[in-house]
Amino acid sequence: MAAISYIIRYILIVMSNRKRNSTTWVAKPLLDRFKSKYRIDVSGCWIWTGTILKSGYGRLKNLDGKQMPAHRISYEIHHGPIPSGKLVMHSCDQRACVCPTHLQLGSHADNMADMKRKLRGPMGDRNTNAKLDADKVREIRGLFGKVSIDEIAGAYHVTPAAVCMAICRYTWRHVE
Ligand SMILES: [Zn+2]
Repeated sequence: MAAISYIIRYILIVMSNRKRNSTTWVAKPLLDRFKSKYRIDVSGCWIWTGTILKSGYGRLKNLDGKQMPAHRISYEIHHGPIPSGKLVMHSCDQRACVCPTHLQLGSHADNMADMKRKLRGPMGDRNTNAKLDADKVREIRGLFGKVSIDEIAGAYHVTPAAVCMAICRYTWRHVE
């Protein structure tokens, strides 16, 4: 019995040390970490050179040690806090870009309108039979809870059932 309580106490000590170490790391100035992780390309975009998610967005730990999209951190550093419920949208369409002048606040409705406009281009009108792909599935999962299933289905030209199945991973299970 004594041995077990010793082991539990040991585990708790290791865990609390780990937590303390990660806090120390995060305490490094956020701005320094941010500034060392992008390069400026010919078009003026600040391309994230740190971790890039499969969704195409950069990623960085914020002051609380939470992983955040790098473009949202950039927005907050340069323009101030993001009002709740607002999205940070790219005027340059480069998801990896963190240039503050290429970032603007938008609503979910703005984002949907923007997405519909972009989808209309490459997909034309042949999209009654349009299929989802891995990128779209990730976008759809990111939109879930923010806009209605019907709106998502409309924007991606698939049935609401197809949207539900993709969200709950009945389909596209291999997509992160
Ligand atoms: Zn840009």
